[in-house]
Amino acid sequence: MTCFRCKGAMKQNLKTHVATLDKCVIIVKNVPALVCEQCGEAYFADEVMKGLEAIIDRLEGIIKEVAIVDYADVA
Ligand SMILES: [Zn+2]
Repeated sequence: MTCFRCKGAMKQNLKTHVATLDKCVIIVKNVPALVCEQCGEAYFADEVMKGLEAIIDRLEGIIKEVAIVDYADVA
């Protein structure tokens, strides 16, 4: 697989995903992603995307400002 932006090589890696919502910020660490070695563009697989959405949905109602979670702990 190559990067759609720069055609660089993609490598399996762990990324920090930051979701900025209206009332809070949710930071999810160690999210499995394909990351471009050239430009740093990251892609999440569909199931990872769904996992992130579920985490964000769940946390959005209970946190006030900032939450930092580990993907491996909450997915
Ligand atoms: Zn790239």
